[in-house]
Amino acid sequence: MARPVQFNIKNEGGKPIHVSNAPVGYSGEGFFTTKLSDVVGLARKNSIWPLPFATSCCGIEFMATMGAHYDLARFGAERIGFSPRQCDLLMVMGTIAKKMGPVLRQVYLQMAEPRWVLSVGACACSGGIFDSYSVLQGIDQIIPVDVYVPGCPPRPEGIIDGILKIQELIAHESVRRRTGERYKELMSSYGIQ
Ligand code: SF4
Repeated sequence: MARPVQFNIKNEGGKPIHVSNAPVGYSGEGFFTTKLSDVVGLARKNSIWPLPFATSCCGIEFMATMGAHYDLARFGAERIGFSPRQCDLLMVMGTIAKKMGPVLRQVYLQMAEPRWVLSVGACACSGGIFDSYSVLQGIDQIIPVDVYVPGCPPRPEGIIDGILKIQELIAHESVRRRTGERYKELMSSYGIQ
């Protein structure tokens, strides 16, 4: 006997799931309704294409995260891209010198919407121990950051935690967010049209 359809649905995050009766003339395990943004979010969050912008030691932790033991592929994010035009997650890992700032910004600008930014490690988040004239004191001075991963360096578990947080954001992002006033304000605060 077929199980009731409710048993096959995980109620993630306590969000209500709408189970509908089958339309007249149809039979089977059942039907459920959802929002377009939830379906789009589900697809996007499980098919992230990261662009690693690794400049120093945190990049080594990222290499470990991609290796067989930690295996970022489990999260659908194993397809690393080195063309900003193909990627949707910019992962900044390492010390960003002020001279490197315009390059990082250019890479961000070349990424198509929707795009997300993960700042990995103390250096990318805040300059880290390099409180000096030559080091950018946090990449959020030049581009918007979605999730910060603390640590010097963060362990691969920390990077994976950051990816999970990004996935959460992606899953619940409205399909209209990128055309909304708040997003435009955020972009214009960085001088981005
Ligand atoms: S946060 Fe620490 S480990 Fe990461 S790049 Fe900076 S100095 Fe290196």
